[in-house]
Amino acid sequence: MFYQRSSALFKEAQVVIPGGVNSPVRAFKAVGGTPIFAKSAKGAYIYDEDDNRFIDYINSWGPMLLGHAFSPVVEAVIDRTREGTSFGMPTALETEIAQLAVSMVPNIDKIRFVNSGTEACMSAIRLARGFTNKDKIIKFAGCYHGHSDSFLIAAGSGAVTFGTPNSPGVTQGTAKDTLLARFNNIDNVKELVAANVNEIAAIIVEPVAGNMGCIPPVAGFLEGLRSICDTNNILLIFDEVMTGFRLAKGGVQELKNVNADIVCFGKVIGGGLPVGAFAARNEIMNHLAPLGPVYQAGTLSGNPLAMAAGLAMLKAIEKDKGLMNRLEEKTKYLHNGIADALNKNNVVHTINRIGSMISVHFSDKEVVDFDSAAKGNNDTFKKFFHGMLNRGIYIAPSAFESWFITDALTYQDLNETIAAVEEIAKEL
Ligand code: PMP
Repeated sequence: MFYQRSSALFKEAQVVIPGGVNSPVRAFKAVGGTPIFAKSAKGAYIYDEDDNRFIDYINSWGPMLLGHAFSPVVEAVIDRTREGTSFGMPTALETEIAQLAVSMVPNIDKIRFVNSGTEACMSAIRLARGFTNKDKIIKFAGCYHGHSDSFLIAAGSGAVTFGTPNSPGVTQGTAKDTLLARFNNIDNVKELVAANVNEIAAIIVEPVAGNMGCIPPVAGFLEGLRSICDTNNILLIFDEVMTGFRLAKGGVQELKNVNADIVCFGKVIGGGLPVGAFAARNEIMNHLAPLGPVYQAGTLSGNPLAMAAGLAMLKAIEKDKGLMNRLEEKTKYLHNGIADALNKNNVVHTINRIGSMISVHFSDKEVVDFDSAAKGNNDTFKKFFHGMLNRGIYIAPSAFESWFITDALTYQDLNETIAAVEEIAKEL
């Protein structure tokens, strides 16, 4: 593989864009080397500016569930574009996608569309605070809910009552309202709730975590959160930006049969265009402006191109009865193949998988929370990452990310990937 053009483009970009990227993880800081610059993508493959082809396991960090340049989405966007690209007025299309989303996801009556997952989560906690008249929220160490101030709170070992900002620019005033808990540890949540009686508006959680690698909830964790929320007048927010329309048509609420009070979406719901959304029962959603006092707005919210892409995507998911099984089978096949290849070569590892999300941790311990995820061997991960990249396999450039499996992957792609892991495993 040669990366000359990507290297040159990266140099140029760094002059006018901070770090050369518009979102930090793209810069390959955790793994070293030059980020590859994408030129085009189709199906399971991404092509870079040096004309290298990669089998893509990031898939735009999740949206490309059905592959890149998925024809129904492409056609829908082109068709809509000819009709005008933004009106700042309501459109029939918005109601159509809202009706479909509400019919696919359990336990929601209304949905509001925004432009990113960040906006969805930021708005969800404002709504929860407005609805409950309380200020504090609980989030879990290692969970990511976008880059709004309340969520940029460091993962302190042994979460304590008050969070600490991990980004300069987040004020102590904001940080003190975000309490940190350990993922998969219900006792820890109980302690925080007991220490902050009548102060907590919401518990926000990735019901399957995807931002410390993939970490499914242990048995009883989500049910435990539901019951704590019920007994303490706290709203349970599922951040399904990664998992929504991916792990099941109705997301983790459907998969695990646990109801949330507010659900946040992003990624798949936009079919690759900038879309986020949050949804809840009428009782809660009717608190939003213009019906209620909690303000939230957006010039480009419900943008016709984004809605057309999202609608084409959701329709395709809705009608494809075999999709979720196919995705799971492919992911399982990959899991088994990678595990065999690493075991044969005595490479210490733990693989976490659920549905079409999977991550390889170079650790012999179970990975159930941020602390255990952080125990993975990062040097081994770096070698693994570059070994894969140089063999035409694009995985996330950080050990703290999930891989996202797309239906466009063939078993031949998966075999190629497993063969690459076998070669690399010999060198690890
Ligand atoms: N929530 C989760 C669970 C996410 O994974 C992400 C992004 N990876 C976000 C929120 C923020 O979404 P966005 O990057 O679209 O702002």
